[in-house]
Amino acid sequence: MDFELNDIQKEIQQTFRKFVNEKVKPVAAEIDEKKEYPLQLLKEVGKLGFFGMRYPEDAGGSDAGIISYCLAMIELARGSMSLAAPCMMQSLMGIYFLHRDGDEEIRDKYFTPALEGKKIGGICMTEPDAGSDLMALKTMTKVYDDRYVLSGQKTWVTSAPYADFFTVFSRTDNHDKLSIFLVPADSKGVHVGKSIDKLGVRGSITSEVAFDEVELPLNYLLGGIGEGTKGLIEILAEIRVMTAALAIGVATAAYEDAIEYAKTRVQFGKPIGKFQAIKMKAADMAVQLETAKHLLFYTAWLCDNDLPRQKEAAMVKLYASEAANSICDEASRILASYGYAMEYPVQRYWRDARFTLIGGGTNEILKINIARELGL
Ligand SMILES: Cc1cc2nc3c(=O)[nH]c(=O)nc-3n(C[C@H](O)[C@H](O)[C@H](O)COP(=O)(O)OP(=O)(O)OC[C@H]3O[C@@H](n4cnc5c(N)ncnc54)[C@H](O)[C@@H]3O)c2cc1C
Repeated sequence: MDFELNDIQKEIQQTFRKFVNEKVKPVAAEIDEKKEYPLQLLKEVGKLGFFGMRYPEDAGGSDAGIISYCLAMIELARGSMSLAAPCMMQSLMGIYFLHRDGDEEIRDKYFTPALEGKKIGGICMTEPDAGSDLMALKTMTKVYDDRYVLSGQKTWVTSAPYADFFTVFSRTDNHDKLSIFLVPADSKGVHVGKSIDKLGVRGSITSEVAFDEVELPLNYLLGGIGEGTKGLIEILAEIRVMTAALAIGVATAAYEDAIEYAKTRVQFGKPIGKFQAIKMKAADMAVQLETAKHLLFYTAWLCDNDLPRQKEAAMVKLYASEAANSICDEASRILASYGYAMEYPVQRYWRDARFTLIGGGTNEILKINIARELGL
C-alpha cells in the first residue's frame, strides 16, 4: 500500500489550491449573495485543464486519473460550491456521452470546446415527476428514418441558461428503456425556463428546460436506442465519488475556519479551543474528515485501476455528505453568533453542504443500493 501522492498529483493539488486561494475565495461570498453564475471562473478552470482530467490524451484530455481529479475537485469546493458544482456537472454528465459516442462533428463542435471550458454542457435527467425514479420520466422522442423529434419537460438543470448543449435522457416511441440524446441549446423548440431559487449553491444556476418537438439528426443519439440506463450505471460510481469530493471540499473549508476561530476567540480569559466542549467537537470533525478522505481516495484508486467500485462509491458519497453536513453544523456552533451571521462564510458552507445529500442520488437511495450490494 502506498498512501503518498505522486509528484504530478501534488502539483495538481497545489495548482488548484493556489487558483482557489487567489481567485475563488475572494469572490465566493459575492457569487452566493448575487446568485451569479461564475462563468468567467468556469472558463479559467477549463484553462487549468480540469474538464479533461478524466479523458484520454488522444481526445484532448490529460488522463490524469480520478485521484488527481478528486484532489482538484476538493480544492474547487473548498473555495466555492457554486463554482465546483457546475464544474462537476460539465466534466462528467455534461460531456461523458459525447466523448463515448459522439462522431467527429460532435467532438469538434461540442466535446473539444467543452473540455477547454469554451462551451457549457448541461445534463437533463430530472423531471417534475421523475427524480430518484428515473424510469418514470415522460420525455418522449419519436424515431423516424431520417431524424428524431424530442419533446418533454426537464427541471433542476444545472447551468441551463448558460448551456450551449444538453445531454438529455428520454424515452423513445420504439423502446421501453431510456436513450440519451445530444440537444444543442439553440435548436428550435428549446426553451430555458424559470431558475429555481435555492438554499445553497446559489451561483450554480439551476433551471427548468422545455423541449417542444425538437428535431435532431440521427447522429445525435448517444449510444444505442434503449441503452441510456446502462450508460448511466457506467458513470454512476464516478458521479458519486466526485460528489463525495465536493462534500469533503466544503467540509474542509468549514473545519479550517472553525479551528482558526477556536484558537483566536477568547472567552473567560482563554481561547475557546481550550474548553473541553470545543476540543471534543474539533476532534470529531477531524476524524470525520480524515475518514471521508481515506474512503474517497481508496474508491478513486479503485476507479483508476478499473476495479469494481459501485458499493464503495455509494458508501463514500453517503459517508462524506453526512460528515460534511455534521462538520458544517459543528463549525456553526463553534462560531456561535458569528456562525449565524451572513458576514461569515460558515453559514454558506452549511447551506451549500446540503446539496451533497441529494446530488449523485439521495442518501436514502444510496443505503438501498449498498444493502443490495450486500445481497439484501
Ligand atoms: C442543486 C441541485 C442541482 C441539480 N442538478 C441537476 C442536473 O443538472 N440535472 C438533473 O437532471 N438533475 C439535477 N438535480 C436533481 C437531482 O438529481 C434530484 O433532485 C434527485 O435525483 C432527487 O430527486 P427528487 O429531488 O425529485 O427527490 P425524490 O426522488 O422525489 O425523493 C424524495 C424523498 O423520497 C426518498 N425516496 C425516493 N424514492 C425512494 C425509495 N425507493 N426508497 C426510499 N426513499 C426514497 C428520497 O430519498 C427523498 O428523501 C439537481 C438537484 C439539486 C438540488
